[in-house]
Amino acid sequence: MLTQDSHSPLKIDMHTHIIPEKLPNFAEKFGYGDFISLLHYQQGSARMMKGDKFFREIQSNCWDPKLRIEEYEQFGTRIQVICTIPVMFSYWARPEDGKEISRFLNDHIAEVVAKYPKNYLGLGTVPLQDIDLALEELERCKDLGFPGVQIGSNINKHNLSKPRFFEFFEACEKLGMSVLVHPWEMLGQEDMEKYWLPWLVGMPAETARAAASMIFGGVFERYPRLRVCFAHAGGSLLPTIGRLEHGFHCRPDLVAVHNNVNPREYLGKFWVDSISHDPTLLKYIIDLIGSDKICLGSDYPFPLGDLTIGAWIEKMELGHDEMENIMYQSTLDWLGLSDSEMFDDLTSRLENKQ
Ligand SMILES: [Zn+2]
Repeated sequence: MLTQDSHSPLKIDMHTHIIPEKLPNFAEKFGYGDFISLLHYQQGSARMMKGDKFFREIQSNCWDPKLRIEEYEQFGTRIQVICTIPVMFSYWARPEDGKEISRFLNDHIAEVVAKYPKNYLGLGTVPLQDIDLALEELERCKDLGFPGVQIGSNINKHNLSKPRFFEFFEACEKLGMSVLVHPWEMLGQEDMEKYWLPWLVGMPAETARAAASMIFGGVFERYPRLRVCFAHAGGSLLPTIGRLEHGFHCRPDLVAVHNNVNPREYLGKFWVDSISHDPTLLKYIIDLIGSDKICLGSDYPFPLGDLTIGAWIEKMELGHDEMENIMYQSTLDWLGLSDSEMFDDLTSRLENKQ
């Protein structure tokens, strides 16, 4: 049994973002497009620019693996799963360029993991604007030792239920590569610029859109061994499961056109992270899908994340098994690490750390 000490359970944080300290000038290199660049204008801070527009201020904990460890260890986290920042997906770029960006980001994450093998696990990114290139990079991610990849909630406005993505999910299932679905390119964002609504309202809706599309599109029927985790506690999917089910019953002519299985049947077949910021909601989700399908996540280092990394969950009155599931076991299961050589490797990494 993996435990940190007798009082606090082992913690693996499976939802965190990282970016290389220096990015190539992709716009100049490719000759078009609002690619992300970093302006390091003072020690420890950089401006992320999207083309000429300011996108977001970031601090060195976005790129400095050592500083990240110092920060996350304060909350008892032992391992962070790292993946890119969704704005880097660049699905809108020309496929070859998307492939180059993916390779660059994946090589960086692989370097971080190689340098700090006790502290990090990596998720890759793939150029899903072109399935063949995505499959190629997926295999490379597997070779780099990543247990999975992070993908967007839509790909250039195409829902994840589109047949064009079947081959990708099939390959993920076959290679045992887990999938984190992260909201990005939020629906309706051009209509709700104020009050941070794309992040507060658009992201949960976007995740629900992705999950409901995959359910109704029959993705989980086709690929029953595919291991998918939806970010931000599944967004607004789980709070609206009753509505989805009712719609399935009352208008099967609209809803059950590609899959005749009640959406409620899929509860417990996918994972979500814990980033709900709400103990009552988390309790509901435990009742709905089980603690063994909820993974501790933080969205570190961004302010909308759970930056005390599950401290509020540790205060909830959960059973021992429920707590262990959420803090690490569900993540090991989602990533397929519970019964594998990688798990032995992970166990020895953790034991060496003690
Ligand atoms: Zn995130």
